[in-house]
Amino acid sequence: MNNLIEIAQKQRAYSKVLAKKPLEYRLQKLQNLREALKGEWQHKLAQAMKADFNKGEVEVRLTEILPTLDNIKILRSNLKKWIRPTKVKTPIMLLGSTSYTEVQPKGNVLIISPWNYPIFLTLQPLTNAIAAGNTVIMKPSEHTPETSRVMAELIRSIFSEEEAYVALGGVELAKELLDIRFDHIFFTGSTAVGQIVMTAASKHLTSVTLELGGKSPTIVDNSANAYAAGQRIAWAKFTNAGQICIAPDHVYVHNSKLEDFKKGVVETIQRFYGEHPMKSDDFVQIVNTNHWERLSSMLGESIKEKGELIIGGNASRELRKIEPTVIVDPPKQGALMREEIFGPILPVFTFNELDQPLDEISNREHPLVVYIYSHNKKNIRRIQNNTRAGATAVNMSLIQVANNYLPFGGVGHSGMGRTNGESGFLEFSNTRAVYYQWGLPVNKVLSAPYTQKKLRIVQFIIDKLL
Ligand code: NAD
Repeated sequence: MNNLIEIAQKQRAYSKVLAKKPLEYRLQKLQNLREALKGEWQHKLAQAMKADFNKGEVEVRLTEILPTLDNIKILRSNLKKWIRPTKVKTPIMLLGSTSYTEVQPKGNVLIISPWNYPIFLTLQPLTNAIAAGNTVIMKPSEHTPETSRVMAELIRSIFSEEEAYVALGGVELAKELLDIRFDHIFFTGSTAVGQIVMTAASKHLTSVTLELGGKSPTIVDNSANAYAAGQRIAWAKFTNAGQICIAPDHVYVHNSKLEDFKKGVVETIQRFYGEHPMKSDDFVQIVNTNHWERLSSMLGESIKEKGELIIGGNASRELRKIEPTVIVDPPKQGALMREEIFGPILPVFTFNELDQPLDEISNREHPLVVYIYSHNKKNIRRIQNNTRAGATAVNMSLIQVANNYLPFGGVGHSGMGRTNGESGFLEFSNTRAVYYQWGLPVNKVLSAPYTQKKLRIVQFIIDKLL
């Protein structure tokens, strides 16, 4: 702990030095990280993830390294433009002045990340924080110890301790870090821990970004290509064994489309993972025994409840896997609908009228994403207008996150603040307003004593200019 306080103090002091360094310095640091991720560290990180939860190398490169590099590319190409002061308009009554905004680093920031995409969810915010000129302490998850250890080595090879540092440890360490004063906390994880982070941040009035979870619903309406929807949703749900914050949590399918949808889902599971998915190397494990137990008891309970099991239903403690499972029309208040599933179990609810899923979605906490499969523009607009979420993807799932030009984040219980590309950079920056007086200031004209003439001027502005 003493060591951590010391590092945070050093970082705090160094953040003032860093803020004065030229743009080229930040670009070089991003370039160093880029080269490391394109070089030997790519394989080292993939090996670590294999050890942590049997994730295949292709998937690590595709879902962790590639999007981090893409974010670095966007930051490096645009940073010069983003840090330039931006002139804003001047209202006529402030004639004689110029106003602009300029972005400054927040200072010394803390990044706490989860285990499900441990590289991307630690290094992507890091790239945004570095681009914005901050010093950074990262606390990756204790549930991916090997990956966290390798990331710590990688960061040590590029940054001095006073600039960026990876703190290794679990909940106790996270709590200790939350006692320290930072200028911003960027937290990715569960809603429950998000509340703890926000409470801790309030002690120092530290700003927070909360990238949380939730139950992201999907609607497949009566105009959709339900077979294709089934294929895409199966891909999105069973990749990483459903351990993705924006995975479709549950699906509403129009009754007339159920058979096509089921066909698309079942064929996809079999094509991806064969007849015995738990034996497939491409189907990842559940991250640890605790999560496996949570999911297998959820599965056991839901199988006993009413509902049609159309595929899956088994779990293996030894392999730490849960079969890709799809259950049609389980109880709405049942085991699968109490909390975020975050695993390879997909409840599917049938409906006849769109009002039904819309009512249910709007009565729950706002999710990260509402997915829509439809070719009916009126329905798409209606779903958009009647729900709140961090994002919407139409006729596709999951892939919206790969567009680093789109802001990523939640609303209400699914989070606050945005990341990716420019929004990520701004999240770690303070946008400072600058007002520059070069002519006669307005207070000369409009200060006490308030004469009739001054009243007429004010009234003229109200009546004619506004
Ligand atoms: P988690 O909230 O349990 O842990 C996240 C981090 O917080 C870890 O580093 C952990 O050590 C730390 N932590 C845990 N308890 C803490 C406490 N009491 N005080 C301070 N820190 C604490 O989440 P997880 O299980 O690692 O990840 C799964 C959750 O994350 C899911 O809910 C998922 O939806 C969400 N998630 C969200 C996003 C997003 O971008 N919105 C991305 C990935 C995961």
